[in-house]
Amino acid sequence: MVQCCAEYFLNLLESRKGFLMTNVLSVDNRVLLLCRFAIAAFLAVVSVADAGDGALVVVGGGPIPDQIIDRFVELGGGNGTRLVVIPTASSDNGLPTADSTIQLWSSRGVTHAIQLHTRDRSQADNEDFVNPLRNATAVWISGGQQSRLADAYVGTKVQAELVKLRNRGGVIGGTSAGAAILSGVMIVGGNPVPKIGRGLDLIPGIIVDQHFLRRSRVNRLLEAVGRHPDRMGIGIDESTAIIVQGDRAKVVGDSYVTVITKPDDRPQSMQTLRRDDAIQLPGVTRKSPKKWAIAVHGGAGTVPADASSAEEKAWRDGLQIAMRKAVAIIESGGTSMGAVDATIRILEDNEMFNAGKGAVFNSAGSHELDASVMDGRTLDGGAVAGVSTVRNPIGLARLVMNRTSHVLLSGSGAEQFATEQDVERVKNNYFSTERRRESWNRVRAHEDGAPVSRIRSARPWQYGTVGCVVLDTHGNLAAGTSTGGLTNKKFGRVGDSPILGAGTYADNDTCAVSATGTGEQFIRHAVGAQISLLMRHRRWTLKQSAEYVLKQRLNKGDGGVIAVDRDGNIEWVYTSPGMFRAAADSDGRFDVLIRDEN
Ligand code: ASP
Repeated sequence: MVQCCAEYFLNLLESRKGFLMTNVLSVDNRVLLLCRFAIAAFLAVVSVADAGDGALVVVGGGPIPDQIIDRFVELGGGNGTRLVVIPTASSDNGLPTADSTIQLWSSRGVTHAIQLHTRDRSQADNEDFVNPLRNATAVWISGGQQSRLADAYVGTKVQAELVKLRNRGGVIGGTSAGAAILSGVMIVGGNPVPKIGRGLDLIPGIIVDQHFLRRSRVNRLLEAVGRHPDRMGIGIDESTAIIVQGDRAKVVGDSYVTVITKPDDRPQSMQTLRRDDAIQLPGVTRKSPKKWAIAVHGGAGTVPADASSAEEKAWRDGLQIAMRKAVAIIESGGTSMGAVDATIRILEDNEMFNAGKGAVFNSAGSHELDASVMDGRTLDGGAVAGVSTVRNPIGLARLVMNRTSHVLLSGSGAEQFATEQDVERVKNNYFSTERRRESWNRVRAHEDGAPVSRIRSARPWQYGTVGCVVLDTHGNLAAGTSTGGLTNKKFGRVGDSPILGAGTYADNDTCAVSATGTGEQFIRHAVGAQISLLMRHRRWTLKQSAEYVLKQRLNKGDGGVIAVDRDGNIEWVYTSPGMFRAAADSDGRFDVLIRDEN
């Protein structure tokens, strides 16, 4: 916006100059030059600050490992990714057909892909032509010659729409020429003497070079940075990428990334990075930190009366460790979905909670686990129900979202999918603990001969599910829930935790919710979806909506929810004696609570 205004102002000055000239009034060209300089300097600052909220996946060419493609798809919204592929770097003979592009990407789990291509700059400036970019969540720029991309798109509406896509949290990926074009000062060709041109400037302050080690391009990048010492040179080798989010770049893939800088008055320096290394990018000033918020739960209910203080501490520590992980991910610019997954994994591995290790016993004396995730950007989600050998069901739920066209896989089918995806497996008794066996015995004793009503709350000690809801700094909401279900549940019983709309829900327009309690009740009342719909249609706040559903629609004792809305307000509402819960946000809040305490 600011950039548009400034450009408009520049054009105005130029046309005004023409107008004044034709009217034979003298215009001091130096004033005009000065204005141009001042505005250009201003634009440079603005473009530096406008690094955007989305992500870039910058690949050095060659065969692209699955890990990089998966990350790109995940950043684009998993199965909900709306992808635009730009093949313009190819020669006319080598251009892929639209069909082959769609086929290629659907084999990688993206079902909505279209191709955008022209060599005609006036078409690249046409509203209808750029329209697909306005609905996209991801753009992939394939390889060839970067000059073809620059000739067609630099300075056109395509470039403007790519900037907007990134600013609204989308992902732009490019390999080889598609990586080079992301630079502002772009290496067009030549080795060891680079030919420099203008690229799309989507990574301010960086000159990207690709096929870096394989094609021995160190000297040309040194030379490019020598000529533009304000830039950082990033040489990415084949089958390797950097993922840029905010002002950080992280390396993924098989080979190395070389970073060249020219500090003031000192010779150039070179650094080599490999997988998982990260660097701070220059020229990308962090925007004022954006509001983020996270809530975690470890189940409805509270510390049993006979629990020791060491046990109580273990519950609190467990929540705290999980929350710290979530905070670290979000503070470093990570995604809400990534934080939900990592946080829940930690709780699944902690035997104090009823999810993963430490899951409750079913009536057959074994364990059947349910889990789900939902992405508020796309309303896409994944879930598994009744799995019995998957160490981290939350990870499998996420794979259902990212690698299948389905939402929920159950029982033996989910197990088969786990085998296909090569996720970590364990024997069913890995989940067993003495604490859960005692609860099972207690529940069985209690249920013997007890009058049974179809709609009644489970006993507090039957709970313990874990969940996490996150608003990240990109404005995206996500939710996840994982559980062993209710103690002594019958064979094949599935609760609310893997049901999107019941135990887990996320919609960027409203809120993200994770529930815990008597699953049957949360399914009957579509609790997660109902809270979201009250916000959407009645314009109620998150607090009003959650309280209404938990306190007016459900029965006392049914359980509770944690939720965060799109503005970062965190709420928890429960009608159980307590709830294991934690909250943290960008204003410095960090609470871990169990009992009915504030
Ligand atoms: N809601 C879970 C279920 O019914 C149990 C729990 O939250 O503890 O499966």
